[in-house]
Amino acid sequence: MKVLVVGQGGREHAIVWALSKSPSVKALYCAPGNAGIAALAECVPIQVNQFEELSRFAVDNRIDLVVIGPDDPLADGIVDYMEERGLAVFGPRKNAAEIEGSKVFMKHLLKKYKIPTAAYETFDNYEDAHAYLMKQGVPIVIKADGLAAGKGVTVAHTMEEAEEALSRIMKDKVFGASGNRVVIEEFMQGQEMSILSFVDGETVRPMVPAQDHKPVFDNDQGPNTGGMGTYSPVPHIPESVVQKAIDTIIIPTAKALVAEGRPFRGVLFAGLMITPDGTPKTVEFNARFGDPETQVVLPRLKTDLLDIFLATVNGRLDQLDIEWSDEAAVCVIAASEGYPGSYPKGLPIDGLDQAKDKALIFHAGTAMKDGRFVTNGGRVLGVVGLGSDIAQAREQAYSAMDLIRFEGKHYRTDIAKKALR
Ligand code: ATP
Repeated sequence: MKVLVVGQGGREHAIVWALSKSPSVKALYCAPGNAGIAALAECVPIQVNQFEELSRFAVDNRIDLVVIGPDDPLADGIVDYMEERGLAVFGPRKNAAEIEGSKVFMKHLLKKYKIPTAAYETFDNYEDAHAYLMKQGVPIVIKADGLAAGKGVTVAHTMEEAEEALSRIMKDKVFGASGNRVVIEEFMQGQEMSILSFVDGETVRPMVPAQDHKPVFDNDQGPNTGGMGTYSPVPHIPESVVQKAIDTIIIPTAKALVAEGRPFRGVLFAGLMITPDGTPKTVEFNARFGDPETQVVLPRLKTDLLDIFLATVNGRLDQLDIEWSDEAAVCVIAASEGYPGSYPKGLPIDGLDQAKDKALIFHAGTAMKDGRFVTNGGRVLGVVGLGSDIAQAREQAYSAMDLIRFEGKHYRTDIAKKALR
């Protein structure tokens, strides 16, 4: 089979890596890919928003399956576009991807089907939103409706923070049209956890749980990022709670989407808050693999990923058993100095060969210059240690991280620490 993966980050490197192990994959392409992906797949210089060029490439090269990595093209309907041209595509159509693309849609869906989530109101004008804010008080959470690269959410602990967030979204329009509407919701306390699932309509096949670390500095200090590290399993959250999340949130949401005439086919990512009494509630849904959750989940997958993708696309997931290893995985992100703000690019990276002996290295933002790997993004590498438990996996990841050198390299030193207690 010939497979094209669309995207260019650490997530796509992990997907390409898993697919490259499938005996059925005869040719593997990635658009646009990155310098690390280029070792496993032929990188094609087409951007993720160039639907026409991507489709033409796939048709001309008789690609059997296209896999979409990032959220933006999914929200913009890349799957519908490619299916209309006769291509087989792994990923949700536009009307199902709206579960990530519009928080207002997601919250209304959950409310309609009585699926646990924070209480909320939605607004399309500043004055009403502001009046509601004054009435509710803090702590409170303010969210721009549309995609905002993970930056559209403010958890406000003071009224000033809340008012400023609302004003930036609705008056200053810092997220453009994504801020035409806002969700203002109840602050939920608890432990966060992500469960990604393969979903084909009503059939849900959960992956192993993972936990992310969003803030840039140790002890969750500093601004939020795309994610600074992940680990799987999440040993301090009991299996019964995970099952409850699947039974009360993930399966009902897949069914709700079918009932609404928007069947979901692809990876449904549930961001959950486990409240202190052990009740899982929905924080968010994403319509694709998480980055960097994928980097710790796929190394634990024993089943052929291509078989799972094909079963999902063909509506046969119910006939497939998916197996996971008991191993633990810890991913630590090496970021550029200044990230998530502005950062330099083009700095030489050393030590990758030595680090590879200890850990899996997924490239997020790298390029090749004069035969050397150089930095080319805010998040540069995902260093994934594996082991029989979290402690061992962590040790592997950090000892590999020590070997990697580039100017200004920054990483968190406390990834998965919570799981050790
Ligand atoms: P992502 O970058 O994961 O796509 P997003 O922009 O979709 O994020 P959310 O996941 O909805 O935003 O929120 C971001 C973070 O804000 C969450 O991971 C969580 O830590 C916090 N958060 C969101 N909603 C709430 C809530 N109701 N109560 C407490 N914390 C919340």
